[in-house]
Parts: sequence; structure tokens; C-alpha cells
Amino acid sequence: MTRLLIVGPQGSGKGTQGVRIAEAFGIPAVSTGDVFRAAVTAGSPLGQQVKAIIESGDLVPDELTSAVVRDRLAQADAAGGFLLDGYPRNVAQVASLDDFLEGRDEALDAVIELDVPREESIARLSQRAAEQGRSDDTEEGIANRLAIYERETAPILEVYRTRGIVDRIDGVGSLDEITGRIIAALEARGLARSAAA
Ligand code: AMP
Repeated sequence: MTRLLIVGPQGSGKGTQGVRIAEAFGIPAVSTGDVFRAAVTAGSPLGQQVKAIIESGDLVPDELTSAVVRDRLAQADAAGGFLLDGYPRNVAQVASLDDFLEGRDEALDAVIELDVPREESIARLSQRAAEQGRSDDTEEGIANRLAIYERETAPILEVYRTRGIVDRIDGVGSLDEITGRIIAALEARGLARSAAA
């Protein structure tokens, strides 16, 4: 049973590392950004609600986001643990996640903080914009999302730091190096990788 959260600025590689770590620990990776983008692509009611917000780089309202996450974590595959990517993203969402997990007698085991300098994040995001054409990877979208990260998301790390569960990981290096650093930090906490991985 491993319950993880990965936090980092846009362009830190948290999505890629999140999937790798989830695989190593045999748990599902739950990315709110992916859920919202899939809903937009599908044109579902949720997608119609969030499309303009995502394109501007603003945050989807907390209540809607928390409801989406609760639904996802209630699915059977998340009963044995999960890795959250992109949620919580502000302190109000931390409180909401705390409530939900306390109701299940659960808590996060570790928070992975991917540390990447601002210039490096911007360079990686611009490259992704050129390669993938994500609709929020415009210059304004990128600047807005990084500002929101610094203002709203970075403070959640202070909350989790007081609980002693944050592992700060140097996010500059090859994909394999960074995955190795994260796994070493989690193992040092006594969290075991799944036998299958
Ligand atoms: P991401 O892929 O994590 O960068 O998320 C892409 C976009 O989805 C964000 O810029 C927000 O518009 C929205 N989003 C993702 N996670 C959240 C969240 N926890 N709270 C509010 N909005 C979110």
C-alpha cells in the first residue's frame, strides 16, 4: 500500500516520472491534467466545463477538481495505493484530500518534490509546445501556469514538510537518473517496490 504525490512546476517532468514511479510501485498514476484533457477531447460535460479554463492555464475550481479526484480514488484499482500527479495544487485542495483520506483511514506516505530551475522548466515547456502542440503551451499559458505554481502550489510543500513526508529530488539529469533518485528516496522511507516491477 503506497500513497504518493508528485509535485513540481510545469515542465519539471512530473508526468513522465509519475508514470514510471507508479509502475515501479504497482499503483495507478492519477493525473488530474490527463483526466481534464481526456474530458475535453471527448467533449463530455466535464470537458465543456473546463476547456476554456485549461487553455488559459488557470485552475479548475477546487470543488469540481476534488470531486473528480474522489471519484477516481474510489475505483477499485486505487484501493491498494496510488500516485497523484497535479492534485492537490493549492492548500484548499490539501484540506479536501486530507478529509477524504482520513475518512478512509489513510494518509499520504510521501510527497516527491521535483526540483527544476525556472529556466529549465521554461525551456522544456517550449520544446513540448513545439513537439506536441498542447493547447495550453502558449507563451502566456506557460507564464500563467508557472506564476500559479509559485503562488499557489509551492505553499502546499510547506504544509507537507511540517509532516516530514517531503523528499526533494534534483530533477535535472537523464530520465533514468531521476527515476533512480526518486526510488532510492522512497525506499529509504521503507516503501517497497512491487515485486512485479
Ligand atoms: P497539468 O497537466 O497538471 O499541467 O494540468 C493541466 C491543467 O489542468 C492545469 O493548468 C489546470 O487548468 C488543470 N488542472 C490540473 N490539475 C488541477 C488541479 N489540481 N486543480 C485545478 N486545476 C487543475
